[in-house]
Amino acid sequence: MRTYNFSAGPAMLPLPVLEQAQAELLTWQDGMSVMEVTHRSAAFKALAEQTETLLRELLNIPLQYKIFLLPGGATSQFSMVPLNLLPVGKTADYVITGFWSEQAMLEAKRYGMINIATSNQNEIPFDIPAVSSWQLTKDAEYVHYTDNETIDGIEFRATPVISNAPLVSDMSSNLLTKPIDVSQYGIIYACAQKNLGPAGLTIVIIRKDLIGHARADTPGMFNYANHLNAAPPCLNTAPTFIWYMIGLVLAWVKNEGGVTVMAERNQQKADLLYNAIDQSNGFYHSKVCANVRSRVNVPFFLLKPDLEDIFLEEAARVGLMNLAGHRQRGGVRASIYNAMPLAGVKALVAFMQEFERVKG
Ligand SMILES: *Cc1c(COP(=O)(O)O)cnc(C)c1O
Repeated sequence: MRTYNFSAGPAMLPLPVLEQAQAELLTWQDGMSVMEVTHRSAAFKALAEQTETLLRELLNIPLQYKIFLLPGGATSQFSMVPLNLLPVGKTADYVITGFWSEQAMLEAKRYGMINIATSNQNEIPFDIPAVSSWQLTKDAEYVHYTDNETIDGIEFRATPVISNAPLVSDMSSNLLTKPIDVSQYGIIYACAQKNLGPAGLTIVIIRKDLIGHARADTPGMFNYANHLNAAPPCLNTAPTFIWYMIGLVLAWVKNEGGVTVMAERNQQKADLLYNAIDQSNGFYHSKVCANVRSRVNVPFFLLKPDLEDIFLEEAARVGLMNLAGHRQRGGVRASIYNAMPLAGVKALVAFMQEFERVKG
């Protein structure tokens, strides 16, 4: 029996995607599994082209943007962005709204001068400071922010409007969960294992004029220009199976109605869960201001922290898996990405209410 996996990543995949992968596992094309084909084969090149077309269509990505599928996870982008965009002696602005934006900033600090434009870390409940209060650098090379803080459960409601430099966004946990206006960004990146597929590739959507400025000592694999100039579909041996799975997930999103439908469903799931938290009279509570609560990662805490282990244990017993908060933050966290069905959230809410009735 399949359970509901509330993990922040690797996350649940849509059942029809897993079923199609299962059906095609032994003979995908040319009598081979997709795991056995070379990335230089005609079959795989066609797959890569279809994947790009789907992504362009779903997110309405303009032609002046290049799309890369790169190995190394979102963490590699924490280095790749400054290596390619931040010349020695120049400054980049970082917006700190939680764990991941801070990690990105700490890595960038190794390469150049970093200005922390704002930080929300000192006050609970967590909010996002108004853009007008950010202390941006006049001639910054770029402004980096994290659109959805996966661990803290904080999400921007709108793209921050800035004019001093290109905007770079880590959308690892919410790309494909809502419509976005790509033209407002210099770079958008997202690792696959939240909403796009299994772990193993990171999607980078980059405005072409930002490619080709890497510092001289940039490792070849970390230079966007080398990926741009590589023979299609990619620079080195690709994890073909992950690429294929991302393609299946994109086709599933399209088939379901696209990112607008995903956004509606995600809002409905999030509303259900936050209402259950807010209506528990303090038995459960959120540490995030209502206007910036993530629609896809819902961390919450129990009034009696010693009940948390029992909560997690009993939830797992009824098939509600991986609800533990991040090891640095504790508490409970329900990740309810695109592939989490409404029924999974309803089952969680019912469990929470019953747990409160018995233990409250
Ligand atoms: C998961 C996540 C990361 C880290 O991704 P890796 O693929 O493990 O490197 C970075 N940023 C955000 C916002 C994430 O959700």
